[in-house]
Amino acid sequence: MAIQLTLRQKKIIEIVKEKGPITSERIAAKLSLTRATLRPDLSVLTMVGILEAKPRVGYYHTEKPLPFFIGDELRQLKVRDIKSRPVVARDDATIYDAVVTMVLEDVGTLIIVEEGGFLAGVVSRKDLLKITLGQADIHKVPVGIVMTRSPNVVTISPEESVYEAARKMVQHQVDGLPVVVPGSISAEEEEKKAVEGLEVVGRVTKTNITKIFVELGAGIY
Ligand code: ADP
Repeated sequence: MAIQLTLRQKKIIEIVKEKGPITSERIAAKLSLTRATLRPDLSVLTMVGILEAKPRVGYYHTEKPLPFFIGDELRQLKVRDIKSRPVVARDDATIYDAVVTMVLEDVGTLIIVEEGGFLAGVVSRKDLLKITLGQADIHKVPVGIVMTRSPNVVTISPEESVYEAARKMVQHQVDGLPVVVPGSISAEEEEKKAVEGLEVVGRVTKTNITKIFVELGAGIY
């Protein structure tokens, strides 16, 4: 189970890492707090094993807190910090063109956009493989026919957490999510009372998440 550390608890860890072994009085003095105020934080940090305390010596850092930080960091890291550029195709592109784009761009999922760059859908490599099983002419059939269509597309905003992105991918059993923001409407569209679309600003995939996991493991974040 991951625990959420408070800002004060993080500050305590920094102090103990730098100055430990250090007594609770000295930690309290550095934070301009009383020992009594710090006591609950010190108990939590020792209970979960991030800090250890030796009588008459003080608190020191155990160098083994990584598992406790992972959940914390994943919630604090935002999608905007890790997203990749979107790889898109137009909904009127042919299946053949979609396959070529997928190969050239070295991605497993294409984000499909309509005129104006708004999200229309997504197409995975399996969607494209499936259509090749039938009699369809891949040079004629538009990719819009096989894509998973918006609003059935699971999306994420740049301000949501990396944890939320990973959770959505697991829950919906997909390899990636388009990163979107509400699109701005032109004056002309405004007049026509067009429905506001979602502007595609990136993508998050299982690869991004795995990279973060490795970086957390290496202590980079
Ligand atoms: P693959 O089909 O190559 O295993 P996925 O597991 O990502 O890749 O896709 C499974 C299905 O879900 C496909 O039909 C695909 O169109 C659809 N899909 C992919 N990404 C999303 C998403 N973000 N939201 C909704 N559906 C998606």
